[in-house]
Order: sequence, then structure tokens, then C-alpha cells
Amino acid sequence: MENNKMEIIQMTKPVKCHLWTNDNVCRDDLGCDNFELIETFVDESHFSRWLVQCKECGQLYFKEFYEEIDWIDGDDPQYVTYVPVKNADEIEKLKKANIFEILLFQPCLRKDYPKGAEKPKVYWLGKN
Ligand SMILES: [Zn+2]
Repeated sequence: MENNKMEIIQMTKPVKCHLWTNDNVCRDDLGCDNFELIETFVDESHFSRWLVQCKECGQLYFKEFYEEIDWIDGDDPQYVTYVPVKNADEIEKLKKANIFEILLFQPCLRKDYPKGAEKPKVYWLGKN
């Protein structure tokens, strides 16, 4: 591998979105009722990717769902990522990124639900 340098890819901040302006963004803000499904790119039981749109402000997000399989007691850790996007070009780049590379597209909103956690942790990567 020639280029394994991890560089942040700067995305446009979704400054009008409640997900951005709310400092205490939580799981309820990420409910399916808050988003319109625009397109499905991948739809597998442990890995999915969609283009969704915030119903409140119209902001587009590239959404990824990823679940690690916990073979021992079935408490599968789950990770959801929302990357704000504004054009087809950005969406194409995200489609090519793997589950690690996608985190370089910042700012992005994450919902981590690790094994054994009582509730998920929701936070922005690269907000400040
Ligand atoms: Zn919004």
C-alpha cells in the first residue's frame, strides 16, 4: 500500500440542521421519523448504506449502519454514521469508502452502541 496516510476529508457543516445546532443531540433525534429515505445503496443484515434527508431542514445525509457480530452472546455492537452531503460527487466518494475510511469524512455524526452499553452514545466527529 502506497498511501495509508489518514487524512480528514472536510465536508460542509450542516449549520441549519437541528442535529448540528442541538448541543445535546441524542438517539431520539435520529429516529426514522425524522428522515426521509431517498436511496438505498447497500442493504444487508449487518451492513447498510442509504441516502436520507432530514425532514425538518432538507439536509442530506449519507447514512451507514454497521453491526459487528458477537458470536459469544449475541449482543452485537452497532455503529451508525451520518455524513452530511450536498452533491452526487460526495456521495460517490462515500460509496467507495470502507467502514474505517468513512470516518474521515468530517464532520460526521456517530451513534455508537457498543456491547454491554445501556444506551447509545451520540456525538459529532470533527465538529469543532
Ligand atoms: Zn435537519
